[in-house]
Amino acid sequence: MTYEQFRALYSLILFLVAVLALGIAVISWRRRQAPGAIPLSAMAVGQAFWSLCYGLQLSSAVRPDPLFWFKLMFIGVVIVPASFFLFSLAYTGKGRFITSRLILLLTIEPILINLAIWTDPYHGLFSGRTASSVPIGGIAFWLHSAYSYSLLIAAGVLLFLYWRSCPPAYRMQAFIVLMGLPIATSANVITIFRLTPWPTIDFSPIGTLISSATLSYALFRYKMFDLIPFAREVVLEKMEDGVMVCDRDGRIVDMNESAERILGLQRNKTLGKGFEGVLDAWESIGDKIKGEKHILKAPLGSSYLDMRISPLVDARGRNQGYVAVMRDITELKKTEEKLREMNEVLNSRLEEIQMLQERLKEEAIRDPLTNLYNRRFLEETLKRELARVERSTGRLSLVMIDLDRFKDVNDMFGHQFGDQVLKALGDLISSQTRLGDVACRYGGEEFVVILPDAPIDSAVDRVEEWRKMFSDIEFRPEDRIIRVTFSAGVASYPEHGVTGNELISAADDAMYAAKLAGRNRVMVAKKVTI
Ligand code: GH3
Ligand code: MG
Ligand code: MG
Repeated sequence: MTYEQFRALYSLILFLVAVLALGIAVISWRRRQAPGAIPLSAMAVGQAFWSLCYGLQLSSAVRPDPLFWFKLMFIGVVIVPASFFLFSLAYTGKGRFITSRLILLLTIEPILINLAIWTDPYHGLFSGRTASSVPIGGIAFWLHSAYSYSLLIAAGVLLFLYWRSCPPAYRMQAFIVLMGLPIATSANVITIFRLTPWPTIDFSPIGTLISSATLSYALFRYKMFDLIPFAREVVLEKMEDGVMVCDRDGRIVDMNESAERILGLQRNKTLGKGFEGVLDAWESIGDKIKGEKHILKAPLGSSYLDMRISPLVDARGRNQGYVAVMRDITELKKTEEKLREMNEVLNSRLEEIQMLQERLKEEAIRDPLTNLYNRRFLEETLKRELARVERSTGRLSLVMIDLDRFKDVNDMFGHQFGDQVLKALGDLISSQTRLGDVACRYGGEEFVVILPDAPIDSAVDRVEEWRKMFSDIEFRPEDRIIRVTFSAGVASYPEHGVTGNELISAADDAMYAAKLAGRNRVMVAKKVTI
């Protein structure tokens, strides 16, 4: 291919590049809410203008003359490094530095260089008075190149630092964006240092087009910027939990609707304020928080707040701020409290029921007058005790006691006094029985005492003692002093019987024998003869 043919072909390619660059500019402008999209759009406009002028310069068919297009082209050229620099600021989250002052500052060099180009015939500062068709090489040209590369290097540093520390989800995107820079500059370097077979042809527009295509691919393919505001809106605003974000110094930078509701604050009056002023719970935090902190308190009147505060730590472990997630748990607390109260009531009721049950059980087995066990309990216990002693000592004695001439006592002093006597005997027996003994009121004025493990002799001795004690008691009915006695019969296992009934009837027989023998005495049952 001859040089002429190549020039014609390349100028066509440049027109195509211009169209594509315009396309990128339009796409980026449409998504201008995304950080970096506006500078990217400006950069693409610059590229489009650059490529168009360069294409016209190369296709000699178009008038006025190539040099005119060459000069005009620089209006586009100067836009590219400045807007790339602005793009990198916006993309890496430093958009707050993009002020009108900075933009004004960035327009100084482009204006000067364009002035230098158009006035070059008078001083030759740009062309260096080269006679070539591409009049570059003067001091102004080299200064311009150095300036542009400084901006690109600054952008590269920003992008590189961002790529190093950005969250993993953004890393691939950040890498592709970072790669946009060498792509853009490589073609320019090749041209400046004349490394192609066509030293007068500038390949930079192709490099910058690929670069801006790469950037827009990274931005819009990953859709981060579309997704983030959307996700924030949906997730953060609609969630039940309150979320509040603070920067390193404890200034509130974001909060959702639920946080407004829970804390009773208005967002527009709260953002930018220190957390301490808003919520005393924050006071204890400061820089001290390393891990997650859980606060449970009632900062707002009587409502309870469950708040978790976590530090926001970047990839390099530096604390960038805090996020507080909160939940109003007043209802929960109230329910808990009610539940606790109800539980207490329930417990005390249960205790009452238990007590009543025990009392009922006691009443079922006790005689109310003497508080000794009743006959039913005796019958159950006797069987059990017999089975037990059979396995241990093999001994058990049973005593049957009957008051002497009690009918007469009743008749003379009344039934009520009779009851007093019965109670006195009951008290005496209770006070004299030992652990394991079972004392019962068997019938009206009859008592039975089981003495487990007691042989007949010691049983008789003990009953004899009771008899004496009881006969010594002085009762005072109707200003008189009387004494009451009892007769008792003692039977022992196994000599007088092996079953409960046998023992009771043997003791009863012995008691009747005592009555016959004159009362107020203790008699032993007759031995069973087989
Ligand atoms: P004995 O010496 O032969 O036993 O003569 P006794 O009068 O005691 O004769 P018996 O044992 O047959 O009489 C029982 C009396 O005990 C009859 C009844 O009036 C009296 N009695 C029975 N139960 C009670 C009671 O719960 N309270 C009172 N006060 N008296 C009772
Ligand atoms: Mg009797
Ligand atoms: Mg009697």
